[in-house]
Amino acid sequence: MRVLVVEDEKKVAKALMEGLTGEHYDVAVAATGDEGFILANEQAFDFIVLDLMLPGRSGLEILAAIRKRGSQTPVLVLTARDAIEDRVLGLDGGADDYLVKPFAFPELLARMRALLRRGRNDHIVDLKVADLEMNLLARKVQRGGQSVLLTAKEFELLEYFLRHSGSVVSREMLARDVWQQPGRDTTVDNLIDVHVARLRKRIDEPFARHLLKTIRGVGFCISETDT
Ligand code: CA
Repeated sequence: MRVLVVEDEKKVAKALMEGLTGEHYDVAVAATGDEGFILANEQAFDFIVLDLMLPGRSGLEILAAIRKRGSQTPVLVLTARDAIEDRVLGLDGGADDYLVKPFAFPELLARMRALLRRGRNDHIVDLKVADLEMNLLARKVQRGGQSVLLTAKEFELLEYFLRHSGSVVSREMLARDVWQQPGRDTTVDNLIDVHVARLRKRIDEPFARHLLKTIRGVGFCISETDT
């Protein structure tokens, strides 16, 4: 399985190279947009991890070029934390999913595997549990057809729960992937509690059925089943 990583940040590129090689992927790294453009167009890859902010050609230009020639290779774009519009532009430009930097390697691996399992034409735009729906392109949330307004952080938190629907999301995972904190501490725990409470107020409290459950001593789980 050949993977192309287009990433100009040396540290991130090195970590991806080592991590993916350790998972037995055959990895090629491009450090500039132009190098990535050439590799993506001249060689065959099974998966592309594409940073959007690159020197030379941008990630979006590379994405446009490979989709224009009809390539179906799954593409996961890497976007900056504050560049929410880039997530939409990436999906709209033919990316199959995005990941916000900084990210933890296991999360990247999980996204990659999910995309490789699914194949194209079914890329992530809608996330859904019961009558709760999130559209990543429009960045809209609805429950029972009613629109639900969320702050950027609440949206990100709900997106994370929906991407892990049916599984327990631990506080460690939230600290690591949503708050970018390497470990849990009281401050992060409090932030998690405040945001989960606010999110519940919007997505669950007005409705008869509660989807986001607390799993005592472990974390949270969003699911259709009452457990
Ligand atoms: Ca970059």
